[in-house]
Amino acid sequence: MNDKKEICDLCGLAVEVDGFQLITKDGNKKFCCEGCKGIFQMLHEDQVLSAPVENS
Ligand SMILES: [Zn+2]
Repeated sequence: MNDKKEICDLCGLAVEVDGFQLITKDGNKKFCCEGCKGIFQMLHEDQVLSAPVENS
């Protein structure tokens, strides 16, 4: 697996759980929680290419 510490692209906190991510024109963004992902998506709507579908 990957033991590199990831940080949230919105708030800068460590990403503990994988799965909150967005693919943007600027690359793959990771977030610490659903809230951060949602806010980023709202702020950068034009840059977001796709949001991986959650099958929970
Ligand atoms: Zn965050």
